[in-house]
Amino acid sequence: MDKCIGGKTLAEWEHAEPTVIKIRDKNEVLWLNPRYGERDARMVTSSDVTDAEARLHRFAPYLASVFPETGQAGGLIESPIYTTAELQAYLGKEVGTRIPGRLIMKADSELPISGSIKARGGIYEVLKTAEQLAISANLLKESDDYAILTNDSFKQFFSRYSIAVGSTGNLGLSIGIVGATLGFQTTVHMSADASTWKKALLREKGAFVKEYAADYSVAITEGRKQAALDPHCHFVDDENSKDLFVGYATAGNRLKTQFQEEGISVDADHPLFVYLPCGVGGGPAGVTFGLKQAFGVHVHAFFVEPTHAPCFLLGLLTGLDDQVSVRDFGLDNHTAADGLAVPRPSAFAGKAAGHLISGCLTVDDDRLFYYLKALKDKENHWIEPSAAAGLVGPQMLLNNGLGKRYLENHHLTDKMANAIHLFWATGGGMVPQKNREAYYVRASR
Ligand SMILES: *Cc1c(COP(=O)(O)O)cnc(C)c1O
Repeated sequence: MDKCIGGKTLAEWEHAEPTVIKIRDKNEVLWLNPRYGERDARMVTSSDVTDAEARLHRFAPYLASVFPETGQAGGLIESPIYTTAELQAYLGKEVGTRIPGRLIMKADSELPISGSIKARGGIYEVLKTAEQLAISANLLKESDDYAILTNDSFKQFFSRYSIAVGSTGNLGLSIGIVGATLGFQTTVHMSADASTWKKALLREKGAFVKEYAADYSVAITEGRKQAALDPHCHFVDDENSKDLFVGYATAGNRLKTQFQEEGISVDADHPLFVYLPCGVGGGPAGVTFGLKQAFGVHVHAFFVEPTHAPCFLLGLLTGLDDQVSVRDFGLDNHTAADGLAVPRPSAFAGKAAGHLISGCLTVDDDRLFYYLKALKDKENHWIEPSAAAGLVGPQMLLNNGLGKRYLENHHLTDKMANAIHLFWATGGGMVPQKNREAYYVRASR
């Protein structure tokens, strides 16, 4: 008998939802989320995000002191936005469909400290853990100037505790760097997909790196198990963490402020489309939650995954969240987008934000390299392959029958000349020059 996936065979899923056939065949797809606009699951509230914003402000003096690259922003970890008109014109010409409106890059590749979107959620969770430990030990008050955390006494205090995480690379980098800087003993459980240079850099920063020959799900499960044996260990659980989620969500109001500073409006006549590369789903779901708080119904969030690893799409489509693996659908999770090489989605992200996501897209690996090169050639920005995924968004939405239907259903078709297409360039800031050049060469083949 065929293997059962949530009570249905693969053939039954294919019959119920024809997109599944295309997904199984590794075609690029756009899938519209029928749960979009459903009632809020109330797992995260706006006051959770406000609380996170306040905490990041408390830590700003500390961050400005230990990571001088955050100094200009007063110790906030934030990235710039760039209008990418040259790239927009180039893509329009190359693909043959003009992209009306304005193409904007959210350059999380330039986030300070660790050069990827993980500098939002990952660093936030480590800071929160440190704050709670120090406050419970009566070493710190919320009203203190957190620059005192640079004192050696705090490093010694934190060295009695450890932090562990499972990672495809970037989350480990964020947590390893900040954890070690605060003084924690930090262990990163790395999947086979993680780049060699990320492991080397982490070891250099003083983190322990445990390597697994298996994929991300195995690395995180093993890490969680080992951490549970140690009462002084905090495990940053990428498959189930509310703290990561709200850390990512603080991006919403920050983007709103940046738009205001640049005179960019988002309203009924100026819809905002956001294309977010998605792995386990926590990063893009947290950011989407924050964006919805900031822009309401005028923001339309689409998640983008590799054709070989569309775990979040399958979690939403089947309604099974983390009970589904891409392998159940015959997919191998092999992709050059190492940050997105995840076979099983986060349960938390799907439940907390499933109703906020307009749809999911998949993208072929070759195209990631094409976009990476185009962004370098036309705008002179380096990103990593995972971070290029969002660039498939505008044309999928504009060229695809379902995309057109989405625009019609939401009365957006005649607003597209004023639309903003924002691709979230999620990482690449720490990639060594040699690896950047290798990406570029692969794109040129
Ligand atoms: C982790 C990561 C993502 C996706 O975040 P998830 O929380 O895993 O969905 C996207 N891009 C890059 C570069 C990443 O490192």
